[in-house]
Formats: sequence, C-alpha cells, structure tokens
Amino acid sequence: MSSPTRKTLIAANWKMYKTPAESVSFTRAFIPLAGRHPNVEVVLCPSPTSLAAVVEAAANNPIRVAAQDMHWLDQGAYTGETSPLMLKAIGVTHVLIGHSERRQYFNETDTTVNLKLKSALAHGLVPIVCVGEHLAQREANQTADVLKLQVSVALEGIDPAAAHPLVIAYEPVWAIGTGRTATPEIADEAHKIIRAQIAQSLSSQLAASTRILYGGSVKPDNAASLCCLDDIDGALVGGASLDPTSFAQIVANSAA
Ligand code: PEP
Repeated sequence: MSSPTRKTLIAANWKMYKTPAESVSFTRAFIPLAGRHPNVEVVLCPSPTSLAAVVEAAANNPIRVAAQDMHWLDQGAYTGETSPLMLKAIGVTHVLIGHSERRQYFNETDTTVNLKLKSALAHGLVPIVCVGEHLAQREANQTADVLKLQVSVALEGIDPAAAHPLVIAYEPVWAIGTGRTATPEIADEAHKIIRAQIAQSLSSQLAASTRILYGGSVKPDNAASLCCLDDIDGALVGGASLDPTSFAQIVANSAA
C-alpha cells in the first residue's frame, strides 16, 4: 500500500457460516496466530447471531467487528431486519453494504446502498461499500461504466465533510468464490476508476484518503501481490477467512 494516510484494512466476510460458538473459537484461535500488526486494521464480519459473541471475544484487541448488512432506518415494522442502532448497541463498528450476494439474491440496489451508506455515516459506523462488475459486463468492456454508476449512485447526496470513514470494496463478481482472482493490474485499474469517481462525486481530498479494498478469491499466496499496489488498500476475504490460520497468513502477508 502506497499512502501512509490510508491504513491497510483486511476484512473477513464469513457469509452464512459459523454458529456463535464456532465464531468465538475462530476469534480465540486467530488472535495469537495473527499477532499484532499496527499498520493493519483487521475486521471480522460474522453472521448476525454471532456479532455480540465476537465483539466480546475480541475485547481488549484492536480487531473490529462488522455486520454483513443492515437496514437504513433506526427502527420500524421491518421483520427480519437489523438497524444501525442495534448494531451500535452491541459494539459493532463497521458494516458491509451492497455485497454482490445481497444484490444478486436479495434485491439490493444502488439506491438502497445509498440509503444504507447515509445511515451508516450518520450513526458513526464505518461503511464498506461493495461494488463490482459481472463477467458479461467485463467481457463487453462495460467495467468502467458499471463501476462509475455504482459509485456515483452510492455517493449521491453524501456530505463530503462527513464521508471520511468511507471504505469501498472492489469485488468483481466473476472472482467471488470462484478461485479466479483479478490480476493485480486488473484490480489496480478498477481501483483507479473508483478513486477518480470518488473525486468527481465528493472531492479529490476524499478520493485520496478513501480506502479501496480488493475482494475476490484472496488467499494467503496472492494477498501480498494485491495489497502492495498503489491504489489497493487492503482486502475483503470470503472463503479463505473461514480458517484462522489462513486468515492470519493473509493479514501477515498484507502487512509485510
Ligand atoms: C466475498 O465474499 O466478499 C469474497 C470476496 O469471497 P471469496 O474471497 O471467497 O471470493
């Protein structure tokens, strides 16, 4: 990572895996394996039923805890949803917004991503907004247009003065859970497009300070080559984050 103002962030997206007991065992095993890397922010994203247990298991450690999704309203008749107030009340500090699996299976749109982003910023949660193109869009040379649209709608009406915690995760859909990783060059090019769009939508100062993570089949052996590029400020890791040894290696390799 190039910029000393952007601390590397490595996040573990556990998706719909791990009971509370399994999440706590992971956290207890991971803490000594990972050691302390003051230049890396580590975030665990368990399922909703494990959030409180992971917050407790990670107490006294710089590890932070993220929800995988949230509603944008504080409360209401929305069965099955979780509000930002509920997340804050149990010590959650970060939230994933607009993961491609939410977009694909649960009708998440750029508009709901925008509402959730505004809500996260208003509540002091660090938002990790996921964007990325499908394979057909890449093959049709539409990647830049797709990314610009996703980022510009997500950032619509956001006050640049309040947007500093913003994190974006570039996750090409064709690379998620497929074992097919974007080359560092592909990822770097996409990150530059995203950074330019942040400059256009908000400000060049914010574009320079916003962390942009890469996600899509990150493993211990490719983490270092992805994380060392100028515009890549960390990783969002799915499959390889389920095992404490593998995730600890990714953290260590990204810190190197
Ligand atoms: C993800 O779920 O955000 C992800 C990147 O998954 P994987 O690392 O398994 O591709």
